[in-house]
Amino acid sequence: MTTHGCKVCRVLDDRGLGHLEAELVDRWHGEADDTDGRMGYRRLADWLNARMLRAEMETVGMATRGEEAVSRYERLTADDAAVAAEVRDLLVDGGVRVDSLLDDFVSYSVVRTHLTDCLAEHRETTTTTTDWPDSRIAQLESYAASEASDVIRRLVAAEDVIAGDDPEVVATVELRCPACETTVPFDEVPRGEPFCDCNE
Ligand SMILES: [Zn+2]
Ligand SMILES: [Zn+2]
Repeated sequence: MTTHGCKVCRVLDDRGLGHLEAELVDRWHGEADDTDGRMGYRRLADWLNARMLRAEMETVGMATRGEEAVSRYERLTADDAAVAAEVRDLLVDGGVRVDSLLDDFVSYSVVRTHLTDCLAEHRETTTTTTDWPDSRIAQLESYAASEASDVIRRLVAAEDVIAGDDPEVVATVELRCPACETTVPFDEVPRGEPFCDCNE
Protein backbone atom coordinates (compact mmCIF):
# COMPACT_ATOMS: atom_id res chain seq x y z
CA MET A 1 0.00 0.00 0.00
CA THR A 2 1.14 3.53 -0.70
CA THR A 3 1.24 6.28 1.91
CA HIS A 4 -2.20 7.10 0.59
CA GLY A 5 -3.68 3.88 1.96
CA CYS A 6 -6.50 2.56 -0.21
CA LYS A 7 -8.72 4.14 -2.83
CA VAL A 8 -11.17 5.32 -0.16
CA CYS A 9 -8.33 7.13 1.63
CA ARG A 10 -7.21 8.77 -1.62
CA VAL A 11 -10.68 9.76 -2.77
CA LEU A 12 -11.68 11.27 0.58
CA ASP A 13 -8.41 13.16 0.61
CA ASP A 14 -8.53 14.36 -3.01
CA ARG A 15 -12.13 15.47 -2.71
CA GLY A 16 -11.79 17.14 0.68
CA LEU A 17 -14.34 14.74 2.16
CA GLY A 18 -12.33 13.58 5.17
CA HIS A 19 -15.21 14.57 7.42
CA LEU A 20 -17.20 11.64 6.03
CA GLU A 21 -14.81 9.17 7.66
CA ALA A 22 -16.43 9.29 11.10
CA GLU A 23 -19.90 8.96 9.61
CA LEU A 24 -18.78 6.00 7.51
CA VAL A 25 -17.60 4.22 10.66
CA ASP A 26 -20.81 5.12 12.52
CA ARG A 27 -22.89 3.66 9.71
CA TRP A 28 -20.75 0.55 9.66
CA HIS A 29 -21.42 0.06 13.37
CA GLY A 30 -25.07 1.00 13.06
CA GLU A 31 -24.64 4.14 15.13
CA ALA A 32 -25.85 6.69 12.58
CA ASP A 33 -29.08 8.48 13.45
CA ASP A 34 -30.97 7.95 10.24
CA THR A 35 -30.42 4.25 9.57
CA ASP A 36 -31.88 1.15 11.11
CA GLY A 37 -28.94 -0.92 12.18
CA ARG A 38 -25.60 -1.66 10.62
CA MET A 39 -24.93 -1.03 6.96
CA GLY A 40 -23.22 -3.72 4.90
CA TYR A 41 -20.23 -2.84 2.69
CA ARG A 42 -22.34 -2.66 -0.44
CA ARG A 43 -24.70 -0.12 1.09
CA LEU A 44 -21.75 1.77 2.58
CA ALA A 45 -20.11 1.97 -0.86
CA ASP A 46 -23.36 3.28 -2.37
CA TRP A 47 -23.76 5.78 0.45
CA LEU A 48 -20.21 7.07 0.01
CA ASN A 49 -20.53 7.30 -3.77
CA ALA A 50 -23.83 9.19 -3.47
CA ARG A 51 -22.18 11.62 -1.04
CA MET A 52 -19.37 12.18 -3.55
CA LEU A 53 -21.96 12.94 -6.21
CA ARG A 54 -23.79 15.27 -3.85
CA ALA A 55 -20.61 17.19 -3.02
CA GLU A 56 -19.90 17.55 -6.73
CA MET A 57 -23.47 18.73 -7.43
CA GLU A 58 -23.17 21.28 -4.62
CA THR A 59 -19.89 22.52 -6.05
CA VAL A 60 -21.48 23.30 -9.42
CA GLY A 61 -24.61 24.73 -7.81
CA MET A 62 -27.12 22.00 -8.67
CA ALA A 63 -30.03 21.43 -6.28
CA THR A 64 -29.43 18.63 -3.79
CA ARG A 65 -32.54 18.90 -1.66
CA GLY A 66 -33.81 15.77 0.04
CA GLU A 67 -32.71 12.59 -1.66
CA GLU A 68 -31.95 14.26 -4.99
CA ALA A 69 -28.30 13.14 -5.06
CA VAL A 70 -29.17 9.60 -3.98
CA SER A 71 -31.76 9.19 -6.73
CA ARG A 72 -29.34 10.68 -9.30
CA TYR A 73 -26.70 8.23 -8.12
CA GLU A 74 -29.07 5.29 -8.41
CA ARG A 75 -29.98 6.25 -11.95
CA LEU A 76 -26.38 7.06 -12.93
CA THR A 77 -25.31 3.56 -11.91
CA ALA A 78 -28.47 1.82 -13.15
CA ASP A 79 -28.20 -1.30 -15.29
CA ASP A 80 -30.46 0.40 -17.82
CA ALA A 81 -27.97 2.19 -20.10
CA ALA A 82 -30.59 4.66 -21.38
CA VAL A 83 -31.47 5.74 -17.84
CA ALA A 84 -27.79 6.09 -16.92
CA ALA A 85 -27.02 8.09 -20.07
CA GLU A 86 -29.90 10.47 -19.43
CA VAL A 87 -28.71 11.34 -15.90
CA ARG A 88 -25.16 11.52 -17.10
CA ASP A 89 -26.04 14.14 -19.75
CA LEU A 90 -28.01 16.09 -17.21
CA LEU A 91 -25.06 16.13 -14.79
CA VAL A 92 -22.57 17.02 -17.52
CA ASP A 93 -24.82 19.91 -18.62
CA GLY A 94 -24.84 21.10 -15.03
CA GLY A 95 -21.03 21.13 -14.99
CA VAL A 96 -20.37 17.93 -13.02
CA ARG A 97 -17.14 16.16 -14.03
CA VAL A 98 -18.85 12.82 -14.40
CA ASP A 99 -15.88 10.84 -15.76
CA SER A 100 -13.64 11.65 -12.83
CA LEU A 101 -16.53 10.95 -10.50
CA LEU A 102 -17.16 7.52 -12.02
CA ASP A 103 -13.42 6.78 -11.72
CA ASP A 104 -13.53 7.70 -8.07
CA PHE A 105 -16.60 5.63 -7.18
CA VAL A 106 -15.57 2.88 -4.78
CA SER A 107 -16.54 -0.79 -4.74
CA TYR A 108 -17.70 -2.68 -1.71
CA SER A 109 -14.44 -4.58 -1.39
CA VAL A 110 -12.45 -1.35 -1.28
CA VAL A 111 -14.72 -0.03 1.47
CA ARG A 112 -14.13 -3.25 3.38
CA THR A 113 -10.35 -2.98 2.95
CA HIS A 114 -10.52 0.61 4.14
CA LEU A 115 -12.56 -0.17 7.23
CA THR A 116 -10.62 -3.28 8.20
CA ASP A 117 -7.04 -2.53 7.13
CA CYS A 118 -6.60 1.25 6.98
CA LEU A 119 -8.68 2.02 10.05
CA ALA A 120 -7.36 -1.02 11.97
CA GLU A 121 -3.86 0.37 11.52
CA HIS A 122 -5.12 3.68 12.72
CA ARG A 123 -6.77 2.05 15.76
CA GLU A 124 -3.51 0.38 16.77
CA THR A 125 -1.81 3.73 16.93
CA THR A 126 -4.57 5.14 19.06
CA THR A 127 -5.19 3.24 22.26
CA THR A 128 -8.64 1.88 21.47
CA THR A 129 -8.47 -1.88 21.52
CA THR A 130 -12.13 -2.77 20.96
CA ASP A 131 -12.20 -5.89 18.85
CA TRP A 132 -15.56 -6.06 17.12
CA PRO A 133 -16.64 -9.51 15.95
CA ASP A 134 -17.56 -7.71 12.74
CA SER A 135 -14.00 -6.59 12.20
CA ARG A 136 -12.78 -10.13 12.79
CA ILE A 137 -15.05 -11.54 10.09
CA ALA A 138 -14.14 -8.70 7.77
CA GLN A 139 -10.43 -9.34 8.34
CA LEU A 140 -10.92 -13.02 7.50
CA GLU A 141 -12.78 -12.11 4.31
CA SER A 142 -10.09 -9.66 3.40
CA TYR A 143 -7.36 -12.23 4.09
CA ALA A 144 -9.11 -14.97 2.08
CA ALA A 145 -9.66 -12.58 -0.81
CA SER A 146 -6.04 -11.51 -0.87
CA GLU A 147 -4.70 -15.09 -0.71
CA ALA A 148 -7.13 -16.20 -3.42
CA SER A 149 -6.15 -13.18 -5.45
CA ASP A 150 -2.50 -14.36 -5.59
CA VAL A 151 -3.60 -17.72 -6.95
CA ILE A 152 -5.94 -16.15 -9.48
CA ARG A 153 -3.33 -13.64 -10.63
CA ARG A 154 -1.07 -16.59 -11.52
CA LEU A 155 -3.88 -18.23 -13.51
CA VAL A 156 -4.51 -14.93 -15.29
CA ALA A 157 -0.80 -14.50 -16.05
CA ALA A 158 -0.78 -18.02 -17.54
CA GLU A 159 -3.88 -17.06 -19.56
CA ASP A 160 -5.63 -20.03 -18.05
CA VAL A 161 -8.20 -17.63 -16.66
CA ILE A 162 -9.10 -14.77 -19.00
CA ALA A 163 -10.29 -11.94 -16.80
CA GLY A 164 -8.48 -8.74 -17.71
CA ASP A 165 -5.31 -7.48 -16.03
CA ASP A 166 -6.50 -7.16 -12.50
CA PRO A 167 -9.77 -8.91 -11.70
CA GLU A 168 -11.29 -8.19 -8.34
CA VAL A 169 -11.46 -11.20 -6.01
CA VAL A 170 -14.24 -11.21 -3.48
CA ALA A 171 -14.54 -13.51 -0.47
CA THR A 172 -17.70 -13.26 1.57
CA VAL A 173 -18.62 -15.13 4.74
CA GLU A 174 -22.29 -16.01 4.47
CA LEU A 175 -24.79 -17.50 6.88
CA ARG A 176 -27.05 -20.23 5.54
CA CYS A 177 -30.09 -21.79 7.16
CA PRO A 178 -29.83 -25.56 6.57
CA ALA A 179 -33.63 -25.87 6.48
CA CYS A 180 -34.71 -23.22 3.96
CA GLU A 181 -31.28 -22.41 2.49
CA THR A 182 -31.74 -18.69 3.03
CA THR A 183 -28.22 -17.32 2.59
CA VAL A 184 -27.18 -13.89 3.78
CA PRO A 185 -23.73 -12.23 3.67
CA PHE A 186 -22.48 -11.89 7.24
CA ASP A 187 -22.38 -8.12 7.13
CA GLU A 188 -26.04 -7.99 6.11
CA VAL A 189 -27.33 -10.40 8.73
CA PRO A 190 -29.88 -8.52 10.86
CA ARG A 191 -29.06 -8.30 14.57
CA GLY A 192 -31.48 -9.13 17.30
CA GLU A 193 -34.01 -10.64 14.92
CA PRO A 194 -34.30 -13.92 12.96
CA PHE A 195 -32.54 -13.96 9.61
CA CYS A 196 -34.99 -16.42 8.04
CA ASP A 197 -38.56 -17.55 8.63
CA CYS A 198 -37.60 -20.89 10.24
CA ASN A 199 -35.91 -19.21 13.15
CA GLU A 200 -38.79 -16.97 14.17
ZN1 LIG B 1 -8.18 3.36 3.22
ZN1 LIG C 1 -34.57 -20.97 7.37
